[in-house]
Amino acid sequence: MSHDVLGELRAGADDFLLLIISSPSGAGKTTLCNRLRTEFPALAFSVSHTTRTPRSNEQDGREYHFVDVTRFRRLVAEGSFAEWAEVHGNFYGTSFVEIERARQANASGILFDIDYQGARQIRAKVPEAVAVFILPPSMDELERRLRGRATDDDATVHKRLSKAQKEIENYALFDYLVVNDDLDRAYDRLRSVVLAESARRQRKALLAEGLLRHGRVSIG
Ligand code: ADP
Ligand code: 5GP
Repeated sequence: MSHDVLGELRAGADDFLLLIISSPSGAGKTTLCNRLRTEFPALAFSVSHTTRTPRSNEQDGREYHFVDVTRFRRLVAEGSFAEWAEVHGNFYGTSFVEIERARQANASGILFDIDYQGARQIRAKVPEAVAVFILPPSMDELERRLRGRATDDDATVHKRLSKAQKEIENYALFDYLVVNDDLDRAYDRLRSVVLAESARRQRKALLAEGLLRHGRVSIG
């Protein structure tokens, strides 16, 4: 059954990385995640379901699976989501199918671009998941970036700014805090987290066992 995928990940002595990246809207999470996806193509990206309307540059099935509220509620009732939440007046959720797809494709892990409510739910199910929170250098800069993105109207920008405070209050849910001041510096910090986490002993135990048993680590 699809819902066992998180249980398997808990129990499994394998190196699959569950990487959660959250931030208040506008802090630069999408920009940083896109860089990560370019540098680490073996890391699958979890395409969430959402009831929000697509932005002009977004494509169904690529950034999100865009669905209406009726369909979203049905998926919730069917237990299709590993986590879901209401964010800025719309519903968002991560389906078990996305995680299974990444496992079947032999990805090295999966990247979740989700909010703190989703991070809390995934961590409750899989405490080994790694959670990173991207912070803006200041609230003024956050507002500048939200306005500079020019994809949202004024009311939406205001709604997102007033939510930012609440999101930042939840920073303690996360393992790592990365300040996105200068983009290159912030990206260096983020990629360091990914590299360090992939070398974590629990994720590399099978390599050490291979060395003990067969005299060499088996790569791949
Ligand atoms: P989020 O996904 O967190 O909502 P985005 O990645 O869409 O944020 O970034 C919001 C805006 O800020 C975009 O216009 C992006 O180009 C810009 N931006 C991201 N990081 C930086 C940075 N370090 N310095 C200046 N502008 C940035
Ligand atoms: P946006 O509408 O700007 O793409 O995303 C708004 C917020 O929803 C972001 O903080 C993003 O991380 C979050 N989000 C996107 N997908 C999911 C999801 O599947 N679950 C949860 N909990 N949040 C999500």
